[in-house]
Amino acid sequence: MSTVRTRFAPSPTGYMHIGGMRTALFNWLWARHNGGQFILRIDDTDQERNIAAALDPILQAFKWLDLNWDEGPEVDGDFGPYFQSERNDLYRATVDKLLAEGKAYYCYDTPEQIQADREAAQSEKRNYLNIRRSLELTESEKEQYAAEGRAAVVRLLVPRDQKIQIDDAVRGHVEFDAGLMPDPVILRANGTPLYNLATVVDDAQMQITHVIRAEEHLSNTPVQVLIYQALGYDLPQFAHIPFVAAPGGKEKLSKRKLDKYRKSPQFKKMFDKADAVFPRIGLENAEGLDPVMVEYYEKIGYLPEAILNALARLGWSLDDKTEIMSLDTIVENFTLDRVVKAAAGLDPDKLLSFQAHWMNQLSLDQKVEMCSPFLVKAGLVEDAADEATNQKIGQVITGMEDRLKIASDILDFDEFFIADDKLEYDSKAFKKRIRKSDDAVPLLGKIKDQLAAADDFSADALDKLLHDFVEAEGIGMGQIIHALRVSVSGKATGIGMFDCLSILGKESCVRRIDRAMALAQSDEN
Ligand code: GLU
Repeated sequence: MSTVRTRFAPSPTGYMHIGGMRTALFNWLWARHNGGQFILRIDDTDQERNIAAALDPILQAFKWLDLNWDEGPEVDGDFGPYFQSERNDLYRATVDKLLAEGKAYYCYDTPEQIQADREAAQSEKRNYLNIRRSLELTESEKEQYAAEGRAAVVRLLVPRDQKIQIDDAVRGHVEFDAGLMPDPVILRANGTPLYNLATVVDDAQMQITHVIRAEEHLSNTPVQVLIYQALGYDLPQFAHIPFVAAPGGKEKLSKRKLDKYRKSPQFKKMFDKADAVFPRIGLENAEGLDPVMVEYYEKIGYLPEAILNALARLGWSLDDKTEIMSLDTIVENFTLDRVVKAAAGLDPDKLLSFQAHWMNQLSLDQKVEMCSPFLVKAGLVEDAADEATNQKIGQVITGMEDRLKIASDILDFDEFFIADDKLEYDSKAFKKRIRKSDDAVPLLGKIKDQLAAADDFSADALDKLLHDFVEAEGIGMGQIIHALRVSVSGKATGIGMFDCLSILGKESCVRRIDRAMALAQSDEN
């Protein structure tokens, strides 16, 4: 059997769609599973904008997920160029060949004529097919049209007596009646090729064995099959995979629906997280990042392992129970017959649970490495943090336990990195736990003195100190612990109290309690 060669052919749009990434992943997986090649080809025939800028986020998404391509931009290969905009001669030569063999024809019909033909078909309740009047033109008539500058497109001459049969690896056997198909345009009047022509020319010339793509292209496939046949090429194996749907699984996940997603209960958390994180890390144009884009997940602190795991599970399964899979496991087990036909909905909660799992697999050092850039970008720690700061980041992460899911979650614990005089108090918590409590301020004063005198500031020692304190005062732990937490962290909740005090250290704790007491006695807040 020939080597498996798959391809992903994105049109540069300036971002990588998460659903497109899933299609790319399936192609990559099938190539890797078979020890074959994965090709990245850029569908930029309709491109007017700056290709490099529009392509960059797409390549970056592949690099972030570490999905390498064997041929394509930056790496080249034996079947290039890999940009369709550079392959025009090939398309032109193919069209000339089809014209010479009578398998395609110049069509001089004006849009008005075609419109009239369509309306006639409609009123006679028959299927519209091209009248093909251009085939009857004499040479001199054609010359006259050319002299008049009348535009001519090239159409494929559909063999109307055929049934087109496709054995799709996902959809199964699909048939189309060529007798119902209008002659498709394959070359525009300006000499540029249409998608169906360029795709077939490239897939054939690049020796693609498996065309794995979104199901919306199934309707293009009969035209492509006819082009393959007209050119005498073997068909590749087609596999049309279901689209990635919005949560709920009914409609295709789309950037055009962002306003709706923003309000949906499933997506809302993702948008809220973006609103909370991106401005803090000084990300330019943060409002341009949304959960439909792969870049969102990279920038907000997801792990490639989690995204790959989640994308693989969108429409493919290893068996009926396994959810957590490493990329190696997926590569090993990936087959097209386990791709489902029904659309799979992107589920933000499930994605987060994959992320939580993979985050949990990291060593403490790796977690520190993941989280530190967020603290640096938020201006909470120095770029090359000193040993003590790194250690503190590690302690906070340990204290966060499973509250660390996405790397940017560390920003919810900024109280450990902020200067004592910059700590902000959550006004609701401050009011409830300190201002409105009769004994909070005197108790805070007493505990502060004890903390200031403590020799041992380890979590264990502080645990004992606080228990001794409440016993001596004859109060419950609840009477001091909430006020203490709000004083030193500014917040109502956080990591374990003794760990929190220990990480902050004696000086910070004392200074922060002083500040809270002063604030409670002033009129502000
Ligand atoms: N550029 C096309 C797309 O992004 C490629 C379709 C195909 O894989 O044939 O939809």
